[in-house]
Amino acid sequence: MSWLLPRILGAMLALVVGGGLGMLAGHLVKLPLLGMLIGGAVGVVLVIVLDGLRGRRLVAWLRGQQRDEAPRDAGFWGEIAYRIERSLRAREQALQAERGRLEQFLSAIEASPNGVMMIDRNDQIDWCNRVAADHFGLDPVRDLRQRLTNLVRSPAFVAYLLEGDFAEPVVFAGPGGLSTLSVLVRPYGHRKRLVLSQDVTERERAEAMRRDFVANVSHEIKTPLTVLAGFVETMATLPLADGEREHVLALMAQQTDRMQALVNDLLTLAQLEGSPRPAPDRWLPVAPLMARARADGVALSGGRHTLVFAGGDDAELAGSEVELFSALANLVNNAVRYTPADGRVDVRWLWRSDGGAEIEVSDSGPGIAREHLARLTERFYRADSSRSRETGGTGLGLSIVKHVVQRHGGEIDIDSELGKGSRFKLVFPAARVRRQVAQPATEAAAA
Ligand code: ADP
Repeated sequence: MSWLLPRILGAMLALVVGGGLGMLAGHLVKLPLLGMLIGGAVGVVLVIVLDGLRGRRLVAWLRGQQRDEAPRDAGFWGEIAYRIERSLRAREQALQAERGRLEQFLSAIEASPNGVMMIDRNDQIDWCNRVAADHFGLDPVRDLRQRLTNLVRSPAFVAYLLEGDFAEPVVFAGPGGLSTLSVLVRPYGHRKRLVLSQDVTERERAEAMRRDFVANVSHEIKTPLTVLAGFVETMATLPLADGEREHVLALMAQQTDRMQALVNDLLTLAQLEGSPRPAPDRWLPVAPLMARARADGVALSGGRHTLVFAGGDDAELAGSEVELFSALANLVNNAVRYTPADGRVDVRWLWRSDGGAEIEVSDSGPGIAREHLARLTERFYRADSSRSRETGGTGLGLSIVKHVVQRHGGEIDIDSELGKGSRFKLVFPAARVRRQVAQPATEAAAA
């Protein structure tokens, strides 16, 4: 009632003051009573009009944007204006804080490496982050409110959404078939759904490689095992003459050698994958490496080829001696194995203009057709399967070489053409090669 009393008092004051003034004016025309009535009425009307004007100002402010201050009137309207303004400002601040939190939340989801999309009960897109847009090939602004099933045509995904069994993710090819997506749906709110997507292309590729690898290893082991089992049976069931027995045993030894070589190469690969990179400050001279590779090559060739080794006498390489020798020996071994008798194998150490160096192994062998070159370092990839197997190849040599050289910060470079020989290069960066530090004369003499 505190708002009513002052206003009644104000109206009464206006009535009394207006009536008094009206009465004084009424005396002039000898009608004091009429003057008092008119004066009183005018006083009250003035108070009401003033009150209405204040109210109207406040209503006009409320109808607007309320950016400027509320009308600062005294009394009743001033109090209302002040309280409305205070509550509006408080709400605005709360709204700003909420908006800030929402923006933070959305930018956190935006930063997620996975795709996040919200869809409503009709599968229309409410919101999605950029990753989800990339995964599904969508435009995050233009495609909002579009039906997801109209935009993503994968039958596997559409069936998954329709079936509504979201216990497991669905895996399907992304737009253009270039990627593989794993998508999981989680219901939330009132029949809304969260679509979480992940690009699993690499994972799937690695998994496929692992499966291929296991299948290849099994196949490579199964073949000599089957042959061995056949020989064992032959020996167990057939009475063989001495000469025949020796022949069969020699063939059996060939198969066990083949399995041994395969297992050794597999162990080497496993070791290369499971151990840390060779230290960049363990320097070893290149000359002994070349000499050992040469001795192995000469022994394998048995005098059927010309082997020429050149350079590297003043060079040092940083890394693992065992690994580097295995890489070089593999290349020399291939060159000798694939090059027919009377052929030539050249091994050269070359300094490069960028400060690095390379070991080049070239041969005058049959060469390799261009289409095979990019895949030669894949495990078990053979350009010439029969020659590889005939000569005891495992199909793993070049993948070992590639691993080794990459672990030393370098790369393998292959160039070949059918009928024109082959050239394999181990290219090392400047950080892994240096010219041999000359030993001080006294130390050298002491040693
Ligand atoms: P493999 O044990 O079969 O020799 P590698 O991984 O060492 O396996 O080599 C892969 C394939 O590359 C070989 O099967 C062969 O077809 C081809 N190849 C490698 N080196 C040579 C070479 N010097 N000349 C011709 N072909 C080669």
